[in-house]
Amino acid sequence: MRLLLVEDDPMIGDSVHRGLKREGFAVDWVAEAELAEPALRSGNYDLLLLDLGLPRKSGLVLLKELRAYGSGIPVLVLTARDAVADRVLGLDTGADDYLVKPFDLDELGARVRALLRRQTGRAQPEVSYGDLRLNPATHEAVFRDKDLALSAREFTLLVALLERPGAVLSRSRLEERLYGWGEEIESNAVEVYVHGLRRKLGADFILTVRGVGYMVPRRP
Ligand code: CA
Repeated sequence: MRLLLVEDDPMIGDSVHRGLKREGFAVDWVAEAELAEPALRSGNYDLLLLDLGLPRKSGLVLLKELRAYGSGIPVLVLTARDAVADRVLGLDTGADDYLVKPFDLDELGARVRALLRRQTGRAQPEVSYGDLRLNPATHEAVFRDKDLALSAREFTLLVALLERPGAVLSRSRLEERLYGWGEEIESNAVEVYVHGLRRKLGADFILTVRGVGYMVPRRP
């Protein structure tokens, strides 16, 4: 899952950025609303983490503009303002949830997962597919009743494919899910993760659609 973080406080930004990356999300971080706009218009993001108190243009104005042009991206507002009025205004402007600073990184991770789950129409916290069960909160994977050891990126890639069985995801789409800006991407990284997953789940678990990308079959 690819997230955009808009936060001008370097310490909070850095800790949120690192915390969410550790959880296996690809996270891009900008410090101003003006820099967030072109990134959001690319449509590459699954969720926006938005500070309200930003220099020049406020988070609320950005949020209002986003909703005005029809963006349905889930928005989690991060705000130091604990005044009820700001939270209400944020939610009424189109935010989906909020956290008041200082917040706990584990709670942030849980709220991000809950919003993403809702976005993909999934009420269950677990992803299951045939004999495989994945828990995005704990990164635990169980395959044929046995614990399965997956790296954070193998896990993320697998969740991306299992969200929409039958849909083909291109290599670049998968890279977007796995990496944030400025992170070095080995040219064959996706192939390497797919290879690792096939070794663990069976050669036919992930199908290659030549020249297009990868998919898991609609039915396991
Ligand atoms: Ca701020």
